[in-house]
Amino acid sequence: MLHTQDVLNLSGKIAVVTGGASGIGLATAGLLADFGAHVVVLDINVRQGEQAVHEIKGRGGAASFHRCDVSSSEDCKRVASEIENIYGKVDILFNNAGIIRRKTVVELEEADWDLVMNVSLKGVYLLSKYMIPVMERGGGGSIINTGSGWGLKGGDRAASYCAAKAGVVNLTRAMAIDHGPANIRVNCVSPGDTDTPLLRDEAKQLQQDEAAFLVASAGGRPLERLGTPSDIANAVLFLASDLSSWVTGSVLVVDGGGIA
Ligand code: NAD
Repeated sequence: MLHTQDVLNLSGKIAVVTGGASGIGLATAGLLADFGAHVVVLDINVRQGEQAVHEIKGRGGAASFHRCDVSSSEDCKRVASEIENIYGKVDILFNNAGIIRRKTVVELEEADWDLVMNVSLKGVYLLSKYMIPVMERGGGGSIINTGSGWGLKGGDRAASYCAAKAGVVNLTRAMAIDHGPANIRVNCVSPGDTDTPLLRDEAKQLQQDEAAFLVASAGGRPLERLGTPSDIANAVLFLASDLSSWVTGSVLVVDGGGIA
C-alpha cells in the first residue's frame, strides 16, 4: 500500500509555475521543488524569476527560469515547445499569474479592463492551449488554475478582476470536462486575501494606508488572519499530487473561512 509521502513524492515530475517569481507562485515553486519536482518558473519579471530559481537550487532543488508573458500567444507557444524539447514532458501546470486593478466599471479604462482579462483569464487559456498537447503526449497531468474568492462572490472596486476570476472558475470546469479522458485533471485554487506584493499594491491603488488595509483585509473571517503564500502552496501541492487523483473540476477555497 502506498503511503502519503510516496504519493506526495514529485521526483521525476516537471512542474510549470506561472507568476513563479513572487508571492503565491514563488512559494508554490519552492514547495513543489522541495517535494522533488523540477520546477520551471515562468514570469515577466526576469530578475526575480532568476532569483527564485537560484534560491530553489540553493536548497538542493531543481529549477529553471523562462521569460513568458502569459498574455502573449507567441510567448506561450514558444515556451511550451522549449519545455517539451528540454524536459520531454509537463506533468503539472500551475496557471497562477494574475494582476488586479481596483476600479469600478465606470472608473476602468478599456486598456485596464483588457490588461486584467488578458493576463488573469486569457493567459490561462493561452498557456493551457499549448501545454495540454504536451501533457497528452506525456500521458496526462494536473493543471491548477488560480481563481479568487472574488471570482465566486464578487468584491468592491475590482470589476475586471472579479469578471476574470469568475471566468477562471468556469474555464477550469470546462477544461476538466474536455481533458479528463486524456488523464488531465484540472482544478482551481481560490485564495482569500493573502499577504503578497499584489495585496499590498491594492492599498496603493486604493490610496489607503498599507498597515490599516492589511488589518482590515485580515478581518471578517473565522480564522482571523491573512493567508500566507505557503497556505495556498499547500493546497496546490495537494491538487498537483496523486493525493487528489480523483479530484477534477473542483474549486478549493483557501481563505480562512472568508466565504462563510
Ligand atoms: P504577486 O504580484 O506577488 O505575483 C504575481 C506574479 O505574476 C508576479 O511575479 C508577476 O511578475 C507575475 N506576472 C504578472 N503579469 C504577468 C504576465 N503577463 N505573465 C507572466 N507573469 C506575470 O501576486 P500573488 O498575490 O502571488 O498572485 C498570484 C495569483 O493569486 C494571482 O492570479 C492573483 O490574482 C491570485 N490571488 C491573490 C490573492 C491575494 O490576496 N494575494 C487573492 C486571491 C487570488
